[in-house]
Amino acid sequence: MSKYVDSVLASVKAKNANEPEFIQAVDEVLTTLDPVLKANKQYEENAILERMVEPERVVMFRVPWVDDKGIVRVNRGYRIQMNSAIGPYKGGLRFDPTVNLGVLKFLAFEQVFKNSLTTLPMGGGKGGSDFNPKVSPHTPGKRCSDAEVMRFCQSFMTELFRHIGPDTDVPAGDMNVGGREIGYLFGQYKRLANEWTGVLTGKGLSYGGSLIRPEATGYGDVYFAENMLAMRGETFEGKKCVISGSGNVASYAAEKLMQLGAKVLTLSDRSGAIYAADGITEKMLKDIMVLKNVKRGELADFAKKTKAVKFFAGKNSWQLADKIDAAFPCARQNELDGKDAEYLLKHGCTLVGEGANMPSTPDAIAAFVKAKIMYSPGKASNAGGVATSGLEMSQNSERLSWTREEVDAKLKGIMKSIHDNAWEAAAKYGQKGNYVMGANIAGFVKVADAMVAQGVC
Ligand code: NAP
Repeated sequence: MSKYVDSVLASVKAKNANEPEFIQAVDEVLTTLDPVLKANKQYEENAILERMVEPERVVMFRVPWVDDKGIVRVNRGYRIQMNSAIGPYKGGLRFDPTVNLGVLKFLAFEQVFKNSLTTLPMGGGKGGSDFNPKVSPHTPGKRCSDAEVMRFCQSFMTELFRHIGPDTDVPAGDMNVGGREIGYLFGQYKRLANEWTGVLTGKGLSYGGSLIRPEATGYGDVYFAENMLAMRGETFEGKKCVISGSGNVASYAAEKLMQLGAKVLTLSDRSGAIYAADGITEKMLKDIMVLKNVKRGELADFAKKTKAVKFFAGKNSWQLADKIDAAFPCARQNELDGKDAEYLLKHGCTLVGEGANMPSTPDAIAAFVKAKIMYSPGKASNAGGVATSGLEMSQNSERLSWTREEVDAKLKGIMKSIHDNAWEAAAKYGQKGNYVMGANIAGFVKVADAMVAQGVC
């Protein structure tokens, strides 16, 4: 590693000692950039790395709200505006008890490179709250009611609205922030700003949303993987796939894999994992989507009613099948560790397409890279969601709606560009097939060049 990278990493570790996820994300990117930093001295001369690891702005705020029993509750809200060199800040909002400054900084940092890879003019940001919509604050075993989620979202936006705007910062959904929450957030923004603009993406179709946006991250993940397979003359037909998660990204990755002739063997959630030896059927997947999105239930409930699946309480998806061709981690960060990676490789896995952000631990990544399998980091393969958010912004600005086919074709084209750019960047620096290095370099160069051109700011 160069002295420059070493010294920036040391400073990041010293300054952010309580933010392990942020340090992990920065380490993962910076340790792959040596070749491009050596070939382009202007990046060091302009302190590009030092500036990239420091958010342009961090907003932290109180979110008071009243529950159904009339009790006042208080959560913490955040927005990390990480980098606006190539466009307005863009990135999702996450509502989860695990949300803290370090987690959101890691996500915002990743977002900068991801958005750069999409080929669209979007900077990077991320936000959210430690609010947990899945646990009622007053009734054990229940979730927050819709009315509680609405009051929380309205209070959250009452502060956030002054920091965002269609040309400043355009949030979207992430974990536990889906169509329902985006609707409440958008409604409150509109009241406060007294204007109707595309300030949030992931909106409902009746008020400015884009077709294919809900599907885009999962579909895009699979399109990226199709491009990797095509480089080896393969397709998904008959391939056995394991997926983690059963939320937005996981369910649409499963849907697309099935459409392409693959067998999806597993899905998971906080209750555990389901394993279907003969593959999850389209009907099962539909039922799971209703269970998760409408009834807001658990896979444990699904397994009780479905004989064709086995349920493994508290387990993840990785070590359940005997033969695995491809794995798609689509739930959360650090959910696939070195032991899981070893199991996957031993059981035939030659492709890992990350749908979640940073789901593989550093030792798992090292194992995949060493084994030279087709491994795509989330910042490249899950960029389809934010890319389609970019397409939603374009449609809102033009006051137009594109058809499902038009958006899907654009998404496919963008995922191919991301794949090809990552492939070419890795090949240019002597690491053919290393998508980790390729994605980091391709994402970095565009942002770094824009920062150099804009002077010290
Ligand atoms: P989601 O709809 O909330 O789904 C998350 C899934 O992960 C759920 O099945 C959830 O289980 C599971 N999960 C969360 N924490 C868990 C834990 N501690 N143990 C076991 N399972 C856990 O979220 P999503 O939008 O699909 O996002 C998933 C990942 O993709 C995240 O890393 C996100 O940052 C990333 N991502 C999302 C998008 C997007 O467009 N949505 C775009 C890019 C990247 P429960 O249902 O039991 O909670």
